[in-house]
Amino acid sequence: MPAGRSRLHGSVTVVPVITVALLTALTALTALVVTTPTAGAQGPTRPVSGPPKTAADSARLLPSAPALDDPRLVTLKAEAAKSVDSMSTFTQQMVDMVFSFGELGFHEVETSRYLTGILEQNGFKVERGVAGMPTAWIATWGSGKPVVALGSDIDGIPQASQKPGVAYHDPLVPGAPGHGEGHNSGQPVNITAALAVKRIMEREKLPGTIMIWPGVAEELVGGKAYLVRAGYFRNVDAALFSHVDDNLSTSWGSTTGNGLVSVEYTFQGQAAHAAGSPWRGRSALDAVELMDIGWNFRREHLRLQQRSHSVIRDGGDQPNVVPTTASVWYYFRETEYPRVMTMWAIGDSVARGAAMMTGTTLARTRVLGSAWPQHFNKPIAEAMTRNAKAVGLPKWSEADQQLARAVQREVKAEKIKGLSTVLDTLEPPIKDEDKRGGGSDDIGDVSWNVPTVTLRYPSNIPDLPGHHWANAISMATPIAHKGATTGAKVQAMTMLDLLVAPALLDSARVYFRDVQTKDMKYQPLMRPDDRPAVELNAELMERYRPQMRKYYYDPTKYKTYLEQLGIKYPTLRSERASAGAGK
Ligand SMILES: [Zn+2]
Repeated sequence: MPAGRSRLHGSVTVVPVITVALLTALTALTALVVTTPTAGAQGPTRPVSGPPKTAADSARLLPSAPALDDPRLVTLKAEAAKSVDSMSTFTQQMVDMVFSFGELGFHEVETSRYLTGILEQNGFKVERGVAGMPTAWIATWGSGKPVVALGSDIDGIPQASQKPGVAYHDPLVPGAPGHGEGHNSGQPVNITAALAVKRIMEREKLPGTIMIWPGVAEELVGGKAYLVRAGYFRNVDAALFSHVDDNLSTSWGSTTGNGLVSVEYTFQGQAAHAAGSPWRGRSALDAVELMDIGWNFRREHLRLQQRSHSVIRDGGDQPNVVPTTASVWYYFRETEYPRVMTMWAIGDSVARGAAMMTGTTLARTRVLGSAWPQHFNKPIAEAMTRNAKAVGLPKWSEADQQLARAVQREVKAEKIKGLSTVLDTLEPPIKDEDKRGGGSDDIGDVSWNVPTVTLRYPSNIPDLPGHHWANAISMATPIAHKGATTGAKVQAMTMLDLLVAPALLDSARVYFRDVQTKDMKYQPLMRPDDRPAVELNAELMERYRPQMRKYYYDPTKYKTYLEQLGIKYPTLRSERASAGAGK
């Protein structure tokens, strides 16, 4: 058990015997200790936009440390952590089960059926097929305020099928999708945390509503903005998102990642015999290629923070037919909403230019996904960090570390350092001019509508490529299981902060209203007529699901998925060579 946990349990036994006067003095002291470093962070490294402008402002925005040190709250949090520990097998089964489904975005059919089934068995009301997405759902339990929403993504990555616990590329089903990001572990974190807190709410008669919702098709940034547009966050007071990581941490302010809009451009040409009468044809594929060339030239004159990339989804049928239709799919990423809109407008003009050059038409543009840049809530992030420090990182076994180092060697990571053993710290956000681009998550849209934080919990191995089979290796092993239990404790404790200490929610609201959204208001990136691109991935899932089904986890027969697959943990490359196996 990490040192932080024993400190937490220690305070449970101490608190009841402290006199009220001593307790008051103690909490005042804690307030002072907590205030000082945060106020310091408002110094030279403070970002230009966003955080409070004066010391008085920042003091007002701090979470009420005395409120979070309330002895009743401290006791309840210790109880929640213990309860999460007692559910570690339940958590492991959920992690393994969702891993075995390995479903792509918009087709998380088995995953959603399974998770909502568990929630219904535990008294949650479930609304399915929400916001035009068959696999999206909203589960709620409890009544009244505050409403605390727990979210996490559930989709996988194309071609990321991989045997867990095996330190080299060894797919379960070659070519099939898999959890090459680790999205199989986030809902288990949330559900375990919610059940631990629900027990406490029932006994203590705490008012409040727990809402659990999935990030559908996050890998396409295709779902969350539609949940927002459909109004599912209108009554939510705080959103605690959870996402797999290799450490235990959270952040506040604007993140290093980008926002994005994902747009498909479809060109219309004219067919002709490509050898017999090419002059009668107009090639839509030419327009796609010229758009790519135009964009790649224009890219040199964009800010360093941008990221943009494309794939050709339709490049014609066969060489001897001039392509009538062709389409190219772009991601335009920038650090702020107006900058994403500017990039998109440039993309549109390049597309129109390509159509003019080729005598084709730009038949349509379609938004396939979108994500606002993320901005997280400072008071909730600070409260969550206190809980992360109290819980600490999991205790890794030598087998866990062996697997991690072997995978790092396999993918030629810069450092072969194994799993994280030092807790990340809460850093202030970096300035816009210091950002250098990066990925996106449509939790950004939620974060501009409701005070939000993302809990990053340690279920994966550091320094992997991301969106890759290697990122799936740890995700149904003790590394993922322990990481999810650790995350669930922090999530549960932060839920209790929000439910029991109203001062935290007050300061979260002040930060959201007076700092985060003071000069920047949310408006959707997608247009009113855009709809969730639910047909994406349909063909891939149709092709691979029958083979993947054979590998679904059966917890009634096997304690773990590793056991079901007959995988020795960890399986290292040297052992494969000596056993004469290989492919
Ligand atoms: Zn993700």
